[in-house]
Amino acid sequence: MLYTSTRDKSVRVSSAQAIAQGISKDGGLFVPEEIPQISADFIDVLVGMDYISRAKQVLALYLTDFTPEEIDRCVSGAYKEGKFSSEKVSPLKKIKNGANILELWRGPTCAFKDMALQLLPYLLTTAAKKTVADKEIVILVATSGDTGKAALEGFRDVPGTRIMVFYPNDGVSPMQKLQMTTQEGKNVCVCAINGNFDDAQNGVKKIFTDPAVAEKLAENGMMFSSANSINWGRLVPQIVYYISAYCDMIQNGEIKNGDAINIVVPTGNFGNILAAYYAKCMGVPVKKLICASNANNVLTDFLTTGVYDRNRAFYTTTSPSMDILISSNLERLLFHLCKEDDDRVRAWMQSLSANGTYTVEEDVKTQLLTLFAAGCCDDEATKETIRKTFADGYLCDTHTAVAVNVFESYTKQTGDSTPTVIASTANPFKFSAAVLRAVEGSVPTDTDEFDQVELLIEKTGDPCPPQLATLRGKTPRFTACCEKDDMERQVYEMLGIR
Ligand SMILES: *Cc1c(COP(=O)(O)O)cnc(C)c1O
Repeated sequence: MLYTSTRDKSVRVSSAQAIAQGISKDGGLFVPEEIPQISADFIDVLVGMDYISRAKQVLALYLTDFTPEEIDRCVSGAYKEGKFSSEKVSPLKKIKNGANILELWRGPTCAFKDMALQLLPYLLTTAAKKTVADKEIVILVATSGDTGKAALEGFRDVPGTRIMVFYPNDGVSPMQKLQMTTQEGKNVCVCAINGNFDDAQNGVKKIFTDPAVAEKLAENGMMFSSANSINWGRLVPQIVYYISAYCDMIQNGEIKNGDAINIVVPTGNFGNILAAYYAKCMGVPVKKLICASNANNVLTDFLTTGVYDRNRAFYTTTSPSMDILISSNLERLLFHLCKEDDDRVRAWMQSLSANGTYTVEEDVKTQLLTLFAAGCCDDEATKETIRKTFADGYLCDTHTAVAVNVFESYTKQTGDSTPTVIASTANPFKFSAAVLRAVEGSVPTDTDEFDQVELLIEKTGDPCPPQLATLRGKTPRFTACCEKDDMERQVYEMLGIR
């Protein structure tokens, strides 16, 4: 199977090349030329397997240039015993409103990014050996909070790689910031920027696609790659857990093989929900993909009107990992929906970067309306949802709460009773202040992030993951903050090149 670029269909590369390179030279994203199909029989076989075996089966369909031994080594390393706090890796929990919460945050950094970023370093180093054997890989990351830590943890001390993370100085939670600034490892670097996530992402994309920068790195025996969800190697692992969740629902007796489900995803950069779209295209019976946004509801508008317009106020919310106005992965969806017309995709993306807006035509809009439902809620509604869901027996984080809220509005409006999976993307203790405020009504003013963790444990009886609790008292290693125009120089400085 080969991969092409959303902005130039003449590009044809192997999966290893797509993963090693991260983004296509034309600025487009790599997508599979065709989406592999799975049958009900195949799903039946997966039902009898554990998560690791399911992942191997699914990955083999996309990474056809990897040997079975390579896939085996990558997957077994990523999800081996002890890395995730559930033997199911991503367990399902049924909650009182009838939905199945898919806990994707059982990994080392307590957010769903671990599902992909524990595997990506294995995929990337394997891919690099096949394609660019002698080069040191420099991972550049723009993060809205969780990707940064998960990528740092995944790549730390991985031979042949270096990693540099940029995060918005005022756009992440104190726990997220401390997770990143205390990161250990010889090949890691973290830098705040004065700007928001979109600034960080634009800056990183610009550095990536600048030929002069690439040349400078090449002279020094290095090349860039990406650990953001623009990298195909981030998306494949995410497809796995939707297929696996479908299998678990069959196993639980919640559905029969062949029954449709709905999937609700709290969305920012559109990576997670795009993985669910691929699972649907492969043959998993999904009726609606439900896209949940916070007050930054650019996707709600797009999926219901066909007009993408980022010219609007940017809000800093209690679900910071979704504070995004430019959802990169939408480009992949559009490419598939317009029958792989790279001219059209290029025109939309040009319009987006020039005017901050684009409008898809009727043919694409009709498909959006069929495939997706979309909704949003503000911080007040998020808070109320956490309170109510906790009263009903389940403590969820702010991002998951946005999805729960949108799910409940959707079922109320439509009466749709299809069995539903809600992607739960972070452990509630990662956002202790907001979660405590929701379940307790207020947060004492003289408390810090860790006092709030203690109060939340007292209130809920839920355990705080040790990797968060032990951050208390750690001294930050990385305290630099740069202007958004200064990111390129920061990269050279970290790499020790001029
Ligand atoms: C990254 C993230 C999201 C958004 O996921 P996308 O793939 O960017 O849509 C939602 N919730 C949490 C906790 C995240 O870390």
